[in-house]
This record gives sequence, structure tokens and C-alpha cells, in this order.
Amino acid sequence: MSKLKLSVVVPCFNEQDGIFELSRRVTEACKKAVDKSYELILVNDGSTDATWEKMCEISRSDRQVTSINLSRNYGHQIALSAGLRFCKGDRIFIIDADLQDPPELLSKMMLQMDEGCDVVYGQRNKREGETAFKKASAFAFYRILNWFVDINIPKDTGDFRLISRKAVEVLNNMPEQHRFIRGMVSWIGMRQEPIFYDREPRFAGKTKYPLTKMIRFAIDAITGFSILPLRFATWFGVFTGLLAVALLLFVVIENLLGNTIEGWTSLALIILSLGSIQLFVTGVLGEYLGRIYIESKGRPLYVIQEILNSDNFETIKIGSYKKNEE
Ligand code: UDP
Ligand code: MG
Repeated sequence: MSKLKLSVVVPCFNEQDGIFELSRRVTEACKKAVDKSYELILVNDGSTDATWEKMCEISRSDRQVTSINLSRNYGHQIALSAGLRFCKGDRIFIIDADLQDPPELLSKMMLQMDEGCDVVYGQRNKREGETAFKKASAFAFYRILNWFVDINIPKDTGDFRLISRKAVEVLNNMPEQHRFIRGMVSWIGMRQEPIFYDREPRFAGKTKYPLTKMIRFAIDAITGFSILPLRFATWFGVFTGLLAVALLLFVVIENLLGNTIEGWTSLALIILSLGSIQLFVTGVLGEYLGRIYIESKGRPLYVIQEILNSDNFETIKIGSYKKNEE
């Protein structure tokens, strides 16, 4: 089998209204960039609408489209990981299903990669059709994240990027369960370059990242790349210790001056603030402990229920893919 030049990986969750348009535009962009030497991999992440049925329709009419059905909803980053492990191309193009990122940029990204880099990542100039809250939270997220982590995770980037086979192999060999893929890609190093573009509004449907998922995503990102929060306890300890010394001096002086202090307010304040700091720090410890626990179980990242492609029209394949053992 001749080696494919390009694989496109698209994680999809409840994207029934946009999936045809997505495959049309991506296919067009691929043909322009590499003619026929590509595969399109659609990963259905446990959608509850007709996304899977539509994917099957696309796969049946186009031999270059493979549809993978995960056994349930695993989340964006895991669905993406599934596609990355499955694809065979020499370069891998990652794009969301909602067409917020233009597939037409592919040719330019390919040219940029020809010059010798391993990752060409899309960096947003502006975001259209997103709420002020989403923009503000994304803005804050990337800045706070970079304050926490040592590696440089570029600001205002998503998973929209072109990655070399070499880099994807490294990624596929990272076993962690909590995956923050754009951070993991940064961690790899090698030569990575941005390509700037404007982010469009969603083609159809609505965002699959409500506030709760966004918070979970942010916690995964920070805890996955930094142990700085674990050191909070030490800092808080130093801070409250200094405060205690100051307070002690104050109390002694007041006492020598003959002033008796009515202590209730200050005591309540101290108890409350120390209590909340302790709980917070315990919570942070819990976050990391929980992650160690989950990793220690060594479960597969996901379960594939079925795969539909040109040589496998109706076969159901149940199996899990972990590390490199496919
Ligand atoms: N997605 C997924 N599983 C999920 C949530 C999202 O596969 O549990 C996919 C979704 O279909 C889309 C991509 O991940 O292709 C990014 O999601 P979305 O566009 O909703 O995120 P946003 O752009 O609003 O941050
Ligand atoms: Mg989107």
C-alpha cells in the first residue's frame, strides 16, 4: 500500500447539521493539497443525534472517509486521541467539526511544513460569533495557563493544526488519561510555527463546551502540566505564618499598653480564612491524588465500537487501543 500523504482527523459530538458541509469542504481542501493521497477520519464521540448515521452515509459514498464510532461520549480530547492513533498519513490535519476553523488553510499549512517544521498550529486573530464571556474566558485561560506551566503553550490556539507523523508518534506514546492535546504537542518541542487566521462562527449547532466542561478542561490543562498548585500550601503557610507573627506582636504591644482587645471579629476572621485555605489546599491535593488514582488503573483511553471504511463495510470491531498496541 502506498503511503498516504495526509490524514484528517475530526472529533464529532452531536454535529448532525454540519457534518455534510464539513466533509465537503475538507474533501475539497484535501484534493487541492494532495490530490487523492489522503484519508478523512471522522470520530463519533457518543453523539445522541443522527451524527453517526450521517457519518456512515458519508463513508459509504466516499471510500476515503473512515468513520469510527466510540462506545460512548469520552470528551473532545479523547475522541481526538482515538483518531490520531488510528490514522496512517504522513501528516495529520486536525480540525473541529463545526467549521469555525477554515479547512481551506490546509494548502498553506502544507507549504509551511514543507519548509521543515513538525507542527503548524492555527493561531486566532479574532473570534467571530462567540459570546463575550467565551472570548474573555479563553483570553484569561491562556494567560493563566502560561503563568502556571514551564513549557510555552501558544496563546489563542485550539487543536486546529497540521502535525508531522514524527510528532504524532510521540503523542500516541504518551499514555496519560487526562489529555490536553495542544499542551502535549507543545511539550514535544521540535519546530513548531503559527499560522494566523480569523475564527468564524460555528456553521451549525452550538458549542459543546458549557461552563462546567470548560472548567474541567482548564483544570486538566493546569494539573497536566504543572505541579505549582501543590506548592500553594507552602506559600499559604509562609504567608499565614508571617501574619501570625505580626498579629502576635500587635497583641503583645496592645497588652503592654493596657488595651484589652475585643477579640471575636478577628478570631472569627482568622478561623474562617485559615479553614478555607486548608480546605482549598486539601482540594488541590485531592485533584492530583485523584489523577494518580485514575492513571494507576491503566485503563484504555476509549473503546471503539465500530469502524466503517472501504474494506470494512458493516463489521463491528470491539476493542480498545492503548499506547501503541493496535
Ligand atoms: N467534541 C467532541 N466531544 C465532546 C465535545 C466536543 O468530540 O464531548 C467535538 C465537537 O464536535 C467539535 C470539537 O470537539 O468538533 C470542539 O467542540 P466545540 O466546537 O463545541 O468547542 P468550542 O469551539 O466551542 O470551544
Ligand atoms: Mg467550535
